[in-house]
Amino acid sequence: MSNSMTETETAHQAGNTASKAGMWEERWHPLREEWVIIAAHRQSRPWIGQTVSGKTTPPPTYVDDCYLCPGNQRISGQRNPAYTGVYVFDNDHPCAGPDAPTELETPPFPYRNRPATGMARVVCYSPRHDLTMAQMGLNDIEKVIETWQTQTFDLGNRPEVRQVLCFENKGEVVGVSNPHPHGQIYATNFVFKTFEIELEAARRFRQESGQKDTLFGAIIKAEQTDGRRVLYEDEHAIAFLPYFARYAYEVYVAPKRSVPHIYALTAPEVESLAKALKSVTVRYDNLWQIPFPYVMPIHQAPSDGGDYSDFHFFIGFLPPLRQPNLLKYLAGPEIGAGNFLSDTLPEAKAAELLAVSDETHYSQKQA
Ligand SMILES: [Zn+2]
Repeated sequence: MSNSMTETETAHQAGNTASKAGMWEERWHPLREEWVIIAAHRQSRPWIGQTVSGKTTPPPTYVDDCYLCPGNQRISGQRNPAYTGVYVFDNDHPCAGPDAPTELETPPFPYRNRPATGMARVVCYSPRHDLTMAQMGLNDIEKVIETWQTQTFDLGNRPEVRQVLCFENKGEVVGVSNPHPHGQIYATNFVFKTFEIELEAARRFRQESGQKDTLFGAIIKAEQTDGRRVLYEDEHAIAFLPYFARYAYEVYVAPKRSVPHIYALTAPEVESLAKALKSVTVRYDNLWQIPFPYVMPIHQAPSDGGDYSDFHFFIGFLPPLRQPNLLKYLAGPEIGAGNFLSDTLPEAKAAELLAVSDETHYSQKQA
């Protein structure tokens, strides 16, 4: 593995400026320790800037049968308070919970099972039904970050919890038809595979490189050195479309200081992170003038009291679309065999995002 990595790195350095960039290139994903195949020549033609036709009427600010709007009754029979900021409640259909049945049928060898203990919660970002994170004020985005901080800390302190996963699924193409801005939290009795993989890679990097930097810290430096894929940067935070992106418009938003959990951020770092999130989500929405769909996991170290100083917390955006009406289909290489084939060149996709405003949301222009 290390032999082929060296060959490709050398080939890449030599061919960086070649016109055939992105054709039959493999890029190493250092966080997952796997290859991503870049085959940008496969995309039939470049994106030429038309926007999606269709719904232009924005949703109303309040919907009386939305289970997330203030004052409404949920399917459990419980009623949301008349909340005015961020609102968190226990998921009415939890995938893990304190009431998980403990009497389970024992399966035959080599199968194993156990109770799905833990917690599942819903986080409403705003009482407003019609906003996306891109349209929220910086103060209100900071409140969402502060909620992720307290939730990660509190849920992580529960004895049965080993991992707190905060995430957002946004858009109908990822299965969310309710536009009310919200995310979810799963606090589980196991560590999610992605973070297990990243933790192992981060530990190996520190041991083998002998560097003071974390692996993610080294990635930030590499992105700063290249510069073409950096979408936002200030004193404390950075956002970039990684060199090894698996999805066309994949973006990482991170604090510059390496901390394993979001709750370790200081107030100025939270402020910077909010600015970076706002910048990225406004660019996303402006790209095709639609509420841009994505899956947004927050990558954090486990919450089981171990030493995770090698792990650098960050927020990942994984948008499923390659073009306005074209999904990235996961097929043979991805679902079937576990490595991604990307039809787009990360530098070209970063340039598209950089070409649109990160200040004025398109809905403000229409108004
Ligand atoms: Zn609502």
